[in-house]
Amino acid sequence: MAQLHWILLLSALLSFVHALDASTGDADPIYKACVDQCEKTGCVGEKCFQHCKFSSDGKSIDGPWYLQEPLYLRWKQWDCRSDCRYQCMLAREEEREQLGHKPVKYHGKWPFQRVYGIQEPVAVALSALNLAMQFHGWLSFFILVYYKLSLRHDKKTYYEYTGLWHIYGILSMNSWLWSAVYHSRDVELTEKLDYSSAVALLGFSLILAIMRAFNVRDEAARIMVAAPVIAFVTTHILYLNCYKLDHGLNTKVCVAMGVVQLLVWAIWAGVTRHPSRWKLWFVVVGGGLAMLLEIYDFPPYKGYVDAHALWHAATIPLSYLWWSFVRDDAEFRTSSLLKKSK
Ligand SMILES: [Zn+2]
Repeated sequence: MAQLHWILLLSALLSFVHALDASTGDADPIYKACVDQCEKTGCVGEKCFQHCKFSSDGKSIDGPWYLQEPLYLRWKQWDCRSDCRYQCMLAREEEREQLGHKPVKYHGKWPFQRVYGIQEPVAVALSALNLAMQFHGWLSFFILVYYKLSLRHDKKTYYEYTGLWHIYGILSMNSWLWSAVYHSRDVELTEKLDYSSAVALLGFSLILAIMRAFNVRDEAARIMVAAPVIAFVTTHILYLNCYKLDHGLNTKVCVAMGVVQLLVWAIWAGVTRHPSRWKLWFVVVGGGLAMLLEIYDFPPYKGYVDAHALWHAATIPLSYLWWSFVRDDAEFRTSSLLKKSK
């Protein structure tokens, strides 16, 4: 019965994906005119930008000759555009607020207040905390399996999933690193790195969920599980990087992979006699609720905290509990294997 509830809740989650809308802010003619004007004059109202000093033929007006190389110029033009978009967005949002309108997205992003040039300071700080939490979890797992629990004669751990959790730890730390970079400055490169790392992590944790829940220990069977998922994830990453960075498609792929692994863990937590299954339940329920935040995307409060930032906040305690489950699992498996061998 509990499983049926889960399936219902998760399919409700999936149907929310359709509610995601395209950004309307950058289609606004007043905003467009502001950006065009700014790229020509280098100013929005009183505010002018250093990066926007071009002459009419596109060459920089000032600066020594070696700074007039095409690459530098392109960089400057690109920086000018980014400054103009930001300033026009702030100006437009202020006008809209006075008219009583709600915030809208610009180029797929909510209007955020920058702090020291950092685009989403709250999300950056939370990503860094997540990174620290993952490192702590992974390190404590490492110390547990290699120094506290007994090892086999060949110096390997009794726990069969040690290697998989190491890869998981590395992929998740990598993913939080790029998340922090991406939220501090969002350009095509940082966006691709963040998305690709997140997809790789989700794909790998799906493999891990299947292997742990179904007790896949045999090498050949592990390859049978991993190969199709790795093939799918690699194709998706290549598609995003080399063909089209399709946000809508990526959200669907990520939510689908997330939902499948939550289901796998939930069903396993329902049938297993594992002593720490309550931790699994907690992470599954918490993860499902946190995923709602990612899907029910609301604008940033005071220009700082949006749904995505809250999602990053929610994953901090969940990661702590998750690694605590992993340590319990290592202890549990090791002690039952030792009992068997005696
Ligand atoms: Zn993020």
